[in-house]
Amino acid sequence: MPRFFCPACWHDFDEDLVHCPSCATEILIFWDSKDRVEKLVLALHRPEPTTPLRIPWLLGKMGDSRPVAALIETIRSAEDIYLARAAVRALGETGSPEAMGFLESLSHHPVKMIRRDVLKILEGSKGVG
Ligand SMILES: [Zn+2]
Repeated sequence: MPRFFCPACWHDFDEDLVHCPSCATEILIFWDSKDRVEKLVLALHRPEPTTPLRIPWLLGKMGDSRPVAALIETIRSAEDIYLARAAVRALGETGSPEAMGFLESLSHHPVKMIRRDVLKILEGSKGVG
């Protein structure tokens, strides 16, 4: 059976409800009020064991700096190293000063895969900017 989620508080339920039983948000209205970037940022927070790796990827490709804080939070809290890595790359794609500053702070990350990606991004950004 498909599960339905409230995009405001991520309470889940079995039926397609108009109002969230937990926070009373009017689900469709809430969702429709969000643009594509905001929807992806919300999806990034969806409490699932595996957040789709394409979400950070898509956010990075959109060249919008609004998701930077959410991506940083994802890297800080991700237990899935592949998700953290996808968020690292997405931050690199945004090219925002905040994103680059955070990536620099990861240049001694304990996970080699992350460290390598971070260094590659930082080297690339020096060449351009
Ligand atoms: Zn809710």
